[in-house]
Amino acid sequence: MNNIQERFFKYVKIHTTSDEKSTVTPSTERQFDLARVLVDDLKAIGIKDAFVDELGYVYGTVPSNIDKKVPIIGLIAHMDTAPDMTGENVNPQVVKNYDGGDIVLNKELNIVLSPSKSPELKKYIGKTLITTDGTTLLGADDKAGVTEIVTAVEYLMNHPEIKHGDIKIGFTPDEEIGRGADHFNVEQFGADFAYTIDGGSVGELEYENFNAAMAKIVITGVNVHPGYAKNKMINSSLVAHELISMLPANEVPEKTSGYEGFYYLANISGTVEKTEMLYVIRDFFKDGYEKRIAKFKEIEEVLNKTYGEGTVKVEIIEQYKNMKEKIEPVMHIIDNAKLAMEEAGLTPNIIPIRGGTDGARLSFMGLPTPNIFTGGENFHGRYEYIALESMEKAVETILNIIKIYAK
Ligand SMILES: [Zn+2]
Repeated sequence: MNNIQERFFKYVKIHTTSDEKSTVTPSTERQFDLARVLVDDLKAIGIKDAFVDELGYVYGTVPSNIDKKVPIIGLIAHMDTAPDMTGENVNPQVVKNYDGGDIVLNKELNIVLSPSKSPELKKYIGKTLITTDGTTLLGADDKAGVTEIVTAVEYLMNHPEIKHGDIKIGFTPDEEIGRGADHFNVEQFGADFAYTIDGGSVGELEYENFNAAMAKIVITGVNVHPGYAKNKMINSSLVAHELISMLPANEVPEKTSGYEGFYYLANISGTVEKTEMLYVIRDFFKDGYEKRIAKFKEIEEVLNKTYGEGTVKVEIIEQYKNMKEKIEPVMHIIDNAKLAMEEAGLTPNIIPIRGGTDGARLSFMGLPTPNIFTGGENFHGRYEYIALESMEKAVETILNIIKIYAK
């Protein structure tokens, strides 16, 4: 595994930022640059069937070397990096034997990675950290996952004495813009279940995510000269205000955590005549989720009774669902991932994802796919970093899972 750093550097230096404004797949042509490199690297390792399809998805198989029938495991990571910050000209820095103090990422621009803002840094004293130079993100999300999968697969190919079933590899484009699962060919992939290697700190294991929907609301008012408006004007912006007041004030993102759901007013713009609102609805529990959607329908009815039919129009758009119901029937994939981490000397940390993952989508497409850690911290920005030792632990965890299923 001594080339893990070299491989990671090679991948992060390839610019693969995705673009939510794009309507094609992959959203940015440049994601093919990494896809092609990955096909070459997989082939060099001995993955003969590695290929990239016309939409930028990379697939490959480590063939079984065992006589008995064992589950086919999938390993998935995404190639794109978040559009939140540039991923061009990434210039990774190495901090050996980290001393627990401030790390100057960029002297000229005075950009410092500090335990005062990232207290978890203290866990990494004595480790080798890989950081940015302060001007880009690092792209450990998810090139750490990509690197860890390639490294684990290489190890398997070099150690035929380790027995295993078919291992399926999948690298996707456009995860960061929510489209990574869109064109994933689950049937051709042919795995019984998979893991996305796309989480944060060492030990993270995730198989619960939000149920998610959006409510698009259009309120139509009546405009009249304000001096003569009595009993005539309906100010749609004030109706919007009334609508907001009918929702529980404490169930908002800034006041919730853990398993608590929320209503998030993501956008509002309006005049007297017309106000548009976009609400994001999130809840881990099915009944809670349904209640939240019903709440909007109820508010629509109440306000239309007051202001006239058609004043408030609510459109609900369902986005994704909690994968838990798809994972629970195959709970062994969680239990064995936990065991694999424990065998690597780690403490598994099961946490609910306050968002969605490609794995959640894939789980509903017939491929149960929980998420495990990459080891990275502070994703999507200039303070992103990862410890080399964490990447090694991720590789070890992947290999342990494979060994457990061959037993
Ligand atoms: Zn990611």
